[in-house]
Amino acid sequence: MSWRADVLTLFPAMFPGPLGESLAGKALRDGTWSLTVTDIRDFGLGRHRAVDDTPFGGGAGMVLRADVLDAAIASVERGQRPLIFLTPRGRPLTQARARELSAGPGVVLVCGRFEGFDQRVIDAQGAEELSIGDYVLSGGELPALVLLDSVIRLLPGVMGSEASGIEESHAASLLEYPHFTRPATWQGRDVPEVLTSGNHAAIAKWRLAQSRAVTQARRPDLYAHYVASQGLTP
Ligand code: SAH
Repeated sequence: MSWRADVLTLFPAMFPGPLGESLAGKALRDGTWSLTVTDIRDFGLGRHRAVDDTPFGGGAGMVLRADVLDAAIASVERGQRPLIFLTPRGRPLTQARARELSAGPGVVLVCGRFEGFDQRVIDAQGAEELSIGDYVLSGGELPALVLLDSVIRLLPGVMGSEASGIEESHAASLLEYPHFTRPATWQGRDVPEVLTSGNHAAIAKWRLAQSRAVTQARRPDLYAHYVASQGLTP
């Protein structure tokens, strides 16, 4: 049974977009995952298929109507899949959530535009809201593609080596160590000597030290989490 993604959007031509390429694209053609895109406009009202209206209480922009969104959502056979609205107000998407989603049957994603969604449709559905970061984009389509990419690469068989998903950044609250490949000397810069030593224990130790140092310097928030999870003293 393949992992099923449904996306509701006003811009269906944006899918699968980048997910039609490389590993995700191959997995889509293989049937490892499947994608169904629903055009919210098909559920728009009247001759102009209106999907939005002005906000109660005033202010700039337009808001996606609850009734229109509800009809679009009802057209999808959701099964046991979580319904997720992409919003900057949502909980941050994390590697842990991506991993959970990859272990489930799939997702139903709703992409906003304009000022966003009428909150009542999110509340009525008891839906999850996820944000891809503390910045504002013009629509939920790129966030949906980001979320899908983070999950699809974790589906069994998609990444070349299963191990590459265990060691990488965010797997254990640490950022990844730096990588190097041939040539061993480039523009006068040598790769760290330990990496060419063949001493696997020394390499593992060096990589962990690098991971810890870069995480502590760049992401004190993650480092604090790491320290606590390992029962270390900072
Ligand atoms: N007025 C809203 C922003 C609307 S942006 C606010 O201030 O919260 C329009 C749409 O883009 C949103 O409905 C959402 O679907 C999407 N979007 C923008 N930034 C996002 C982010 N960081 N994460 C997830 N979705 C985002």
